[in-house]
Amino acid sequence: MQELVAATNNPHKLSEFRSILGDKFVIRSLKEEGVAVEIDEDADTFYGNAYKKAKTVAELTGKPALADDSGLMVDALGGAPGVYSARYGGEDGNSELNRAKLLKEMSSAENRKARFISCIVLYYPDGRSVSAEGITEGSILTEEKGENGFGYDCLFYSDDLGMSFGEADPDMKNGVSHRGRALGALLAKL
Ligand code: IMP
Repeated sequence: MQELVAATNNPHKLSEFRSILGDKFVIRSLKEEGVAVEIDEDADTFYGNAYKKAKTVAELTGKPALADDSGLMVDALGGAPGVYSARYGGEDGNSELNRAKLLKEMSSAENRKARFISCIVLYYPDGRSVSAEGITEGSILTEEKGENGFGYDCLFYSDDLGMSFGEADPDMKNGVSHRGRALGALLAKL
């Protein structure tokens, strides 16, 4: 099977990549490749950040690299936190702070509609790249529900599943999630 390097330091994204693509590709982690890199996500689009992560890792490893840039877009907040989802609460990667800020900002919102978006880029060491996007619709709960997943999962009620992503088991989430859909669209292009 062809090897792809997952351009992420997020163990949850790595595990979702493996569950979704594991029967078609060997997904190697940055750790397994001996690569320690923190990539500054300074683009203002999901595509820009995903492209930067995949290109950097493909160039460092000499292998095809797969990156996801994703986030939550909330209607009542004008699309925020969007590309800033990972640092919404003020500290990069602190999901507790991110969720606390989201609940506070949404405390009086009646329209709770939201969606997760994922942009995936697969970058080959010869400079070719393929990208795809996936969206999943839902709404923001008024309190956390469920212990599964990561990030905003326990605050996101999935329209497809009729429960929060925090309550869904990993296969259920991957079947309807933004990342599952983006990876499905990517596979269709290969
Ligand atoms: P980034 O793609 O590394 O910029 O991080 C995306 C951020 O969006 C994560 O840190 C999470 O806060 C949030 N996010 C993206 N995908 C998911 C998901 O599947 N579940 C919950 N939160 C997510």
